[in-house]
Amino acid sequence: MSVLSAHEVQVVFNQGEPEEVEAIRRISFELEKGETLAIVGPSGCGKSTLFNAIAGLIEPSAGSVFVEGRRVDRAIGHVGYMLQKDLLLPWRSVLDNILLGLEVRGAVTTTDRERVLDMVRRYGLAGFENAKPSQLSGGMRQRVAFMRTLAIDPGVILLDEPFSALDFQTRLVLQAEVMEVIRERGKSVILVTHDIGEAITMADRIIVLTNRPAEVKSVHRIDLQASERNPIKLRSSEKFNQLFQTIWSELGIQIGAMRNNSEPVTASLE
Ligand code: ADP
Ligand code: MG
Repeated sequence: MSVLSAHEVQVVFNQGEPEEVEAIRRISFELEKGETLAIVGPSGCGKSTLFNAIAGLIEPSAGSVFVEGRRVDRAIGHVGYMLQKDLLLPWRSVLDNILLGLEVRGAVTTTDRERVLDMVRRYGLAGFENAKPSQLSGGMRQRVAFMRTLAIDPGVILLDEPFSALDFQTRLVLQAEVMEVIRERGKSVILVTHDIGEAITMADRIIVLTNRPAEVKSVHRIDLQASERNPIKLRSSEKFNQLFQTIWSELGIQIGAMRNNSEPVTASLE
C-alpha cells in the first residue's frame, strides 16, 4: 500500500521572470508503507525543493502530491520533517525540545510526556532529559531532532541530509541507530542524501535524480537483510561496491573540475 505518491511534480521558481529557475521537472514516485526510500542527486538539483513541495511549504507549478490519500495543498503537519540543521531551541531542555511539535498541536498530556521520556531513555539520551542543546554533541543534537520528528508520530518522515554535518564515525553510528528505530516502528521514510553509501545502507529503494531540473534518472531496489545493513561491514561487500559504482557513474560526478583544464596535468615524481 502506498502512503505517499507524487504525480508529475514540477517546480519552477520565479516563473515568467528573467530569473526563472526550473528546479524540478515532472517527478513521479510512490512511497510504500514501512518503506525507506532514498533520493540521491547532485547538490542543487532540487532535492530540498521536492521535500518542501511534499511538506506543503511550496506549491508545485504542476502536478500533485498525495499523503495518506489526501492531496497536499498546505503544511498541516502531515509529515515529520528533519533537516541537516537541528533547529533546536537553545533555552529549552532536550525533553521540551522533543515535545515542541506536540505542543504546537495542542495540550501535551501526561501520557505524551511519559511516552517521550521513554523514547529519550531508550534511544541513547538517558540522563540528558533536562540538558540544554548547548551541552550536547552534534550527534546527540541530531538524535534529539530525530526524536522530535518521531514524537508527533507522523505517517511519513522526511529526512533532508540529516547526518551530513556530522563527522564520519558519528554519521555511521546515527545511520545504524535511526535505521533501527525506523524499522522497529515500521515508519515510512524518505531520506534525501548526497551520500551514496548512506543511501545503500539505509534504504529499501534508491531514486537517483539528474542535475537540475531534477528528473528521475534511475531506480534501484536494495535487497539487503537487516542483518547485512551494518554500515561498516556492508562497505566491504561486493554488493555494496557494485551499487556504489553504478550510482556514482549515474550521477556523472566529475573529479578534477577545479583544475585548469587548459594545462595538461602530468604526473611527476621529481
Ligand atoms: P538541493 O537540495 O538538491 O541541493 P535545492 O532544492 O535546495 O537543491 O535547490 C534547487 C535549485 O532551486 C537551486 O538551483 C536553488 O538555487 C533553486 N532554488 C531553491 N529555492 C529557491 C527559491 N526560493 N527561489 C529561487 N530559486 C530557488
Ligand atoms: Mg538540499
